[in-house]
Amino acid sequence: MPVIAILIGLIAGLGVWGVLDQVQSRAIERIFGKELRARLDLRARESLLRFDQHMANYAATARLLANHRRLAQYLEPLFWFPEEDITPVVYKGFRPFWLPDFFDRNALLAPSYVLLIDTRGRVREVYQAVEQAMPADILTDAGQWIGDDEDVHAVLTRAGPAPFLIVSDRVEDASGYRMGHLVVVIPIDAAFLTAAEGTVSSDSSVVALVDADEQRILASNEPQSLLPGSLIEDWTAEYLVTLQSLPRYEASNWNMLFATFIPHRSVAKMSERVVDFERRQRLIAALAFIGVFTLLIYLVSVRLNKVLTRMSRFSQRALEIEQPGFKQGGNQLLLLEDWIQHFTNLVLRAREEMSLRHAHELRETEALKAAIMEASLDAIVTLSQRGQIIDYNPMARVMLRFTPADILAADFATQFLDPAEHAAFAAMLRDSTRRHGDAQAPFARGELQARRMDGSRFPVEMSIVPIDVDAERVYTLYIHDATKRKEAEREIKSLARFASESPNPILRVTGDGGIAYANAASLPLLAHWGGAPGERLPTPWIEEVRAALDNGNTSEHEDDQGGQIYSLLFVPVADPGYVNIYGRDITAVRRAEQESRQHQSELVHVCRLSTMGEVATGMAHELNQPLSAIVNYANGASRRLQNDSGDREALVDAMRHISSQAQRAGEIIRRLRALVGKQPPIRSVVDLNYLVREVCGFVEFEATRLDLQWQLALADGEIPVNVDLVQIEQVLLNLVRNAMDALEEQPADARRLEISTWVEDGWALVRIADNGPGIPPERMTHLFDPFFTTKESGMGMGLPISLTILENHEGTIWAESAPGRGSRFYVRLPVAASSIGDGMTDAAGPTAAQTAGDSSR
Ligand code: ADP
Repeated sequence: MPVIAILIGLIAGLGVWGVLDQVQSRAIERIFGKELRARLDLRARESLLRFDQHMANYAATARLLANHRRLAQYLEPLFWFPEEDITPVVYKGFRPFWLPDFFDRNALLAPSYVLLIDTRGRVREVYQAVEQAMPADILTDAGQWIGDDEDVHAVLTRAGPAPFLIVSDRVEDASGYRMGHLVVVIPIDAAFLTAAEGTVSSDSSVVALVDADEQRILASNEPQSLLPGSLIEDWTAEYLVTLQSLPRYEASNWNMLFATFIPHRSVAKMSERVVDFERRQRLIAALAFIGVFTLLIYLVSVRLNKVLTRMSRFSQRALEIEQPGFKQGGNQLLLLEDWIQHFTNLVLRAREEMSLRHAHELRETEALKAAIMEASLDAIVTLSQRGQIIDYNPMARVMLRFTPADILAADFATQFLDPAEHAAFAAMLRDSTRRHGDAQAPFARGELQARRMDGSRFPVEMSIVPIDVDAERVYTLYIHDATKRKEAEREIKSLARFASESPNPILRVTGDGGIAYANAASLPLLAHWGGAPGERLPTPWIEEVRAALDNGNTSEHEDDQGGQIYSLLFVPVADPGYVNIYGRDITAVRRAEQESRQHQSELVHVCRLSTMGEVATGMAHELNQPLSAIVNYANGASRRLQNDSGDREALVDAMRHISSQAQRAGEIIRRLRALVGKQPPIRSVVDLNYLVREVCGFVEFEATRLDLQWQLALADGEIPVNVDLVQIEQVLLNLVRNAMDALEEQPADARRLEISTWVEDGWALVRIADNGPGIPPERMTHLFDPFFTTKESGMGMGLPISLTILENHEGTIWAESAPGRGSRFYVRLPVAASSIGDGMTDAAGPTAAQTAGDSSR
């Protein structure tokens, strides 16, 4: 590549040089010719000036001589007779007295002839410094050269072909009296002209005096080359001639011109020299050009190489075309051109594809943007810089309730904002402009009161984003209807007040028992505990708080504050680690429960009395038997005592029977009293079999009357149950009586009643089964409803009371029935953990192992 660069540089340089040489040489010659003529003209003028100056020097010499004291001294005593024919005195070879010898000393020009002329113009004395005598013409006419004025008088004249310079000046004495004239005569010859030109004169140029009329050379400084007497036209082929007039010497009779001859040869030589010089300069310039151009080409080629390498890498990577084969020979530039063309085509194709893809992407983006605009749940409005609406999405139309014609170029603020909000909106616009380009928050946002087209107002959240489009700024407004949020906020606020508005105590307690929040209703509770919000709970409650947080379970506690009872629900909230305590004043509830229990007990008692009323007849009849026996025994004993017939043993036996029957009667009374008596419920561990037997005793008379067949299938041993025996007896009595009522409908010989007891899975069970008519399914569902009865004299309270009693004993009751075949009633009670006490007897008996009543109820 460098060789190519040098070659190209050389060819370009030489080409430039060749063309420039042709054009420039001619141009230079033309310019130089013009310049040369001007210079020659100048040189001719200079020569004339020097010639003039030379002649002026002679004038100065003449003045010096005329005014020299020696001449005054010489002329003062002298008296020239006027009339005489005079022959002038000629000094040849020696200097006269009046001529001082100062020429050499003062480097003055020595004149060839000096003449003294008297006041009448006649030549009196002549000094001749040269061999040759002064031409007679000049001597004769000397008088005419004298001027009348005071100035030096100089004249150019001719004597034959030879030109002369004649300079005269007045000679005066000290008083200004004119004593004569001094005339200096100098032949203008080669020496004169050479001296005039001096050393300045160019060797090639020749100066001459010529006769203007004859166009003939009078004298030249080089007479051997430019012959005096020859015509000017003879020399014009050889010389360039410049003629100049001599205006100061026009007084002369002769019209003489000053001529400068410059040989054409020297002009051509000079021109050649200049052209040569210029050519050298051009060559240097061409060489410099070649160097610089080569360097430039080299640098460009290096740069081009780099670019090509990059392009090659790029093309290999991106376009998958091979690097051009620069090193495989052939015309590298053509190869490169081909390759670049190929590369350019590929790039163009790639650009086309890219522009297609870009257009496609643009369309997609536009479609996406349009979809976003369409689907946005917020109103999006674009404003011009002056705040006029230029675009909007469908949601804006829905939210602000306008028709497109309404808002064409309308001012957004005037149209859709409450007047009171205009200033705030303007501030937001300014804020958005200030934030423009801020990466963190490039938009302004705020809440404003908007106004729909129909005049209704609603709160909005608005963000403003300024966008620069084609050197103009537009604003995009994102408007979100804040009505629902505001409502939700109001809801949340009211919910936040919810706890404080609660009439029940609500507390929030941290894990270490600190009271983080307490509503107004909890202050009496806190006052009782001796605490306040910000302080800590009493220690026992802190334990409960910790326990609730540890096990994560909600627990309920009661706090009896002496007359005031609170239920406290501890609800742990694990994540922040605190416990909410929801309090409730349950004093009234507890009182009501107490009253309810009392009412229940009374109801149970009333029911019992009712039952007892029904069994009383039987009981009375039963009581009759012992009483009759007692009467019989007593009568028999009394008779025996009256008759003294009975022995002592028989009387004692009768008395024993009386006592026994009295005890039996007393036992019947006791049972009756126990059932009728009103006493608080007392739990005791008793044998369930005993209770069954007791009940059978109550209805013995009734059973006999009905002639029913008893079957008692009691479990072996005892079944201890912790119950209120009166109440459980009431339950069992009720069930046995219901069975008897049902059996009444059966024929007397087919009445069967079976009572069984057994223990199963820790439960004590009693079954009372009859073969009565049974219970239809529709009645089964109402069996335990209060006041449900099918009997004329029934109350319908037996079964509901039984259910209540059993539930109070953690037990239950249920029925099974097959209509037409009979019914079965089951009672289930938990078997007592503690065993029956020693004092309990088989036959009867409330036990000694009575426990204190369950105070928890
Ligand atoms: P009452 O006995 O006063 O009617 P209960 O509550 O004791 O009230 O009984 C409700 C009803 O249940 C009775 O009226 C009767 O119709 C029905 N009933 C109870 N036990 C039996 C039974 N063993 N056989 C058939 N029906 C029964």
